[in-house]
Amino acid sequence: MKTKKDHARAKKLLEEWYLEKANKVFSERLSACFFLFDYKEMPALAIRKLSKRWGSYLHKTNKIFLNQELIKASTRHIDYVIIHELCHIAHRQHNSAFYDLLESRLPQWETLKTELELSLLGGPAIYSDNTCL
Ligand SMILES: [Zn+2]
Repeated sequence: MKTKKDHARAKKLLEEWYLEKANKVFSERLSACFFLFDYKEMPALAIRKLSKRWGSYLHKTNKIFLNQELIKASTRHIDYVIIHELCHIAHRQHNSAFYDLLESRLPQWETLKTELELSLLGGPAIYSDNTCL
């Protein structure tokens, strides 16, 4: 018979599995997306439970934070979030220069953004102007 304890243990194992997978996949995708840019230094990567966003970028430490829930999305949606964050290295705000850069590196970003927001991941609605950064 399954007990509450078994259930909690299974949940914990599943979370650990996702986190391990997220570490591997996000690192790989960051390396791949980084080469779309002319930046010299690859940002560090941190995976967190983020309640209000898929990702964020911290200039002070040159670090990209990604929501661990993003591992449930497809590779192209993961890439979209990573490329969005990489654009923040050059432009902190969501201004026209930011979107010009995003457009040049990922022309289909708008479709990906909509798909990700409409997906059933239960994640946050991202990148309206006050949620990222
Ligand atoms: Zn942003």
